[in-house]
Amino acid sequence: MSDAHERLEALRGKIRELDYRYHALDDPVVSDIEYDRLFRELVELETKHPEWASLDSPTQRVSGVVLEGFQKVRHSMPMLSLGNAFSEGDLREFDRRVKELGGSLPKYLAELKIDGLATSLVYEDGLLVRGATRGDGVVGEDITEGLKTIKAIPLRLREPLSIEVRGETYMPRQSFARLNQERMTAGESLFANPRNAAAGSLRQLDSALVAKRQLSFFAYTLAAPEGLVASQREALVRMAEWGFPVNPKWRECVSIAEVMEYIRWAESVRGTLGYDIDGAVVKVDDFELQRRLGTTAKTPRFAIAYKFAAEQSEARVLGIELGVGRTGVVTPTAVIEPVPLAGTMVSRATLHNEDFIREKGIRVGDLVLVQKAGDIIPEIVAVIEAARTGEEQAFAMPDKCPACGAVLVRSEGEAALRCVNEACPAKTVEQLIHFASRTAMDIEGLGEALVEALYDAELVKNVADFYRLTKEQLQGLERMGAKSATNVLAAIDKSREQPIERLLFGLGIRHVGAKVAQVLARRFQTLDRLMQASVADLLEIDDVGPKLAESVVGYFADPGNRHVIEKLRELGLRFDTDLREVAPTGLPFAGKVVVLTGTLQTLTRQEAQALIEAQGGKVSASVSKKTHFVIAGANAGSKLEKAEQILRETPGAPLRILGEEELLAMLGVSRSEL
Ligand code: NAD
Repeated sequence: MSDAHERLEALRGKIRELDYRYHALDDPVVSDIEYDRLFRELVELETKHPEWASLDSPTQRVSGVVLEGFQKVRHSMPMLSLGNAFSEGDLREFDRRVKELGGSLPKYLAELKIDGLATSLVYEDGLLVRGATRGDGVVGEDITEGLKTIKAIPLRLREPLSIEVRGETYMPRQSFARLNQERMTAGESLFANPRNAAAGSLRQLDSALVAKRQLSFFAYTLAAPEGLVASQREALVRMAEWGFPVNPKWRECVSIAEVMEYIRWAESVRGTLGYDIDGAVVKVDDFELQRRLGTTAKTPRFAIAYKFAAEQSEARVLGIELGVGRTGVVTPTAVIEPVPLAGTMVSRATLHNEDFIREKGIRVGDLVLVQKAGDIIPEIVAVIEAARTGEEQAFAMPDKCPACGAVLVRSEGEAALRCVNEACPAKTVEQLIHFASRTAMDIEGLGEALVEALYDAELVKNVADFYRLTKEQLQGLERMGAKSATNVLAAIDKSREQPIERLLFGLGIRHVGAKVAQVLARRFQTLDRLMQASVADLLEIDDVGPKLAESVVGYFADPGNRHVIEKLRELGLRFDTDLREVAPTGLPFAGKVVVLTGTLQTLTRQEAQALIEAQGGKVSASVSKKTHFVIAGANAGSKLEKAEQILRETPGAPLRILGEEELLAMLGVSRSEL
């Protein structure tokens, strides 16, 4: 066999394997760019050597597989792939062939190429009866049940039509980010991109699982449009009328120059869309001309996909650094040779955790493919194994904390390694930074660098120490002038007034995020009440699970933590909140401000207050225009007068004056119950 023939066979073998990884396992090992490069090389070789043509070459068939476990579906007409264009030149060549074979001047429709999965939807008399994957183009998988859970897919059309609509099922970026976050927390392997995640999701046999993945759909064509519509443009417009989501960002083009303008525009908005696109699809608009042009076994001659250049780059891993976060989680980060990526230079890529490194098989010295994930932190997609020299070094996570040397712990069901040493300096500094940060105590001017300096100078060891700092101490630090010192002190002082939801979040109790902190503040109202709460008390709250409840109780049981909290109390921090429990509407005092005055016969003030609060009300000490009810007992004095004055002077004020009987009636208690 000649070298060229050998190369051709090797390429066919390699591409078949890549197809399998991509289509059957949803787990590609090279980027699409790399795949497309190999594919093009094969096409070029086959064009040069027609004598080596073979019907089972990947160039001759729609790549894809039909998985076991699903009913097979034979498509009414083949679901084809698309030919690829990578440059304006490729598009001009396409245009030339269209004109030559079609014998007329074509009008094109340019659409976004949504990066998802081709899907066929069959409707009978307006009802969705079957949904299928493309499979190998001829036979697909019946995934009707899963598709029915996708809200964007109409189950019934606005007109009782019998049609087959084809489109792309995709995973919105937001759903993708959430899914991978959840998988990471659960220690599961991550999906490389939304397309693979969408494919993996659609192939869940259990449709309830598909529903959770929050997929979406765009319709882009009709399988047998005869008699219904005469052009692609009309198909898009009509499908939208029938109830399908149709991506609105298509454009009519009369020349390749206009198509290129559209492509440049699409590339510029690519990062701002809620879904991934990997290019644009250019289609001959007129269906009659489409029919004349026809198809090959794999691709239509009337349409072509223009593929964008990479948002991925190749880079060498120079080393792996370890960071210790505020909860003690040790996170590895790859230091990579700086490479341009989606408009910025990138020199670091997240590695998530030990499992991620092992699954991807990343070694120091490896050439890897990096991409921007969720548009922010670059991550490693795959190792380019072919580039290995044997010099690469395998990496193992240490068993001791890189900052303090304590033995690292891996909790069951977690992928993360954690330093549990409370005195770990790296962890402590991160906690202090977190405490002062904008989302927690919001202490302006107390940023990372200053916190580190204060810690290094041994002026601050725990969060209470911030409140004991003096101007002299601050001014003693490098690059800290008198004015900055005064400002920082003022900001620290002001933070004493922060409500407990911020304090709770700032303390960095495990599992207590900003949202949970609010839930706890709302329920317990004061830090003291929360500190006395048992696991059972906490579990009564919706959304609080055992892990969280135990973490909170454990935190407050720790003598060291209690000590810091007592110090915070002495230093004058606020230990309550303005948040009120949102009472279920329908309760008579939900959201109402109530003032008690005079002597009540049947209830003590405290009892009345507790009952009102239990019904969603807030008891206030003074009467204002915001007061809803003044409860006037015997010998009511100035507060009652004030209320009467407001009623006289402010028509439309929400205020009502109630006697004790009315209060009891509203509270739904009778005297005999008391
Ligand atoms: P394709 O993705 O290049 O293009 C065809 C598909 O585009 C259609 O089937 C349809 O699903 C989709 N599409 C999106 N928007 C559309 C629109 N508006 N109109 C029409 N179609 C639209 O081709 P393919 O056959 O699905 O997949 C081949 C591609 O998959 C390769 O070029 C490569 O990028 C990728 N791939 C990658 C690997 C890997 O290992 N990384 C392996 C195999 C395939």
